[in-house]
Amino acid sequence: MPSSPLSSAQVARAAVAARLQGLMKDAGLSGHELAARCGWHKSKSSRIARGKTPPSDADIRAWCAACGADDHAADIIAASRNAESMYVEWRQIHRDGMRRIHEQTTPLYQRTRSFCVYASNVMPGMLETAGYTTGLLKAITAAFGPEERFAHHLGSYLSVFSADNFLALDDWQMWLRDGDTGFGIMPVRDNTELRIAFGFESAPLAHDLRDGTALRQLVVDKLASLRWKGTRLAEAARKAPDFYCDAMAQIRMDQWSRGRVTLLGDAGYCPSPLSGQGTSLALVGAHVLADCLAQAPGDHQSAYARYEQRMRPFVAFNQALATENPGGPASEESVAHAKNALSLDS
Ligand SMILES: Cc1cc2nc3c(=O)[nH]c(=O)nc-3n(C[C@H](O)[C@H](O)[C@H](O)COP(=O)(O)OP(=O)(O)OC[C@H]3O[C@@H](n4cnc5c(N)ncnc54)[C@H](O)[C@@H]3O)c2cc1C
Repeated sequence: MPSSPLSSAQVARAAVAARLQGLMKDAGLSGHELAARCGWHKSKSSRIARGKTPPSDADIRAWCAACGADDHAADIIAASRNAESMYVEWRQIHRDGMRRIHEQTTPLYQRTRSFCVYASNVMPGMLETAGYTTGLLKAITAAFGPEERFAHHLGSYLSVFSADNFLALDDWQMWLRDGDTGFGIMPVRDNTELRIAFGFESAPLAHDLRDGTALRQLVVDKLASLRWKGTRLAEAARKAPDFYCDAMAQIRMDQWSRGRVTLLGDAGYCPSPLSGQGTSLALVGAHVLADCLAQAPGDHQSAYARYEQRMRPFVAFNQALATENPGGPASEESVAHAKNALSLDS
């Protein structure tokens, strides 16, 4: 099986990083000392040494000079340019999306008579049947307890759905409030469609209202009673193929890990659309967890403990954005503080 252009590029970039790290060690310098000699922030030398950030030609020259190894610079610059050109090639291959790449393997798949998968510690995706997934999720719920124990209702519901652009909005958004409801309407897809986000204040709804049909009817009724475009909005909600509605709620847990299971993203610390940042928390959480696991090979307990320790403040500051100013946005200072409440350097 030929290796993908991406993995070759990663190997080449890692080789450059390893050579720079070697020079640093030979010179008896720590990453901080090297950064100080180059006049950089300490995180820059760490990112370059770990191959996370590709060094520029000037970075490599400064690095070699700081290590007293100027004569290595030209060679490492050539290797680095070679690695980066592989990334360019990989991006060009993918510029039209993944479809063409995937289709290339279709003939091989069609010719295949025997397909073997070896996985030492996880169930391969194709065997994750509905029964398996249900069992797995039940085991996780049993370990942590029912969701109701951790879900904190924030006093309102949010519905989102699409409609044709019956308002003829032309790159303009509309935001309105009407009593205890409010909505934002934005045109998308070259102004051919609308995305309508409709919020209404409400205590947690009774269970029988949580099924899709009853919830949609509730939203339709609320929209129909609006003073502005109520009938048209209600009709759009009734017909929308992508109708969504759920409570604004946060998941707050004292501990994200039990045994070998740990939670990340919405499962462990959903912040709600009121604060935004849910995708960032999920992606950053995945990055930090992977980093902690890599730093503690074979010791998931320490990795999970470190993951929680690093992520907790970031999660707390971001979740607090939803409750800081009820009915309005959090202050710009709080948003800036929350976004920067974590360094990705381990
Ligand atoms: C209306 C709305 C607007 C939002 N706007 C923003 C925004 O502007 N910016 C922002 O950063 N965040 C926003 N978010 C939040 C963001 O979408 C989430 O925080 C983020 O997607 C969480 O990622 P996740 O991977 O943890 O969970 P998810 O993205 O929910 O992924 C979980 C996956 O698990 C799958 N799954 C669930 N149960 C099962 C099962 N039994 N078997 C198999 N698969 C299962 C689901 O289908 C889903 O694909 C918004 C959320 C909502 C609801």
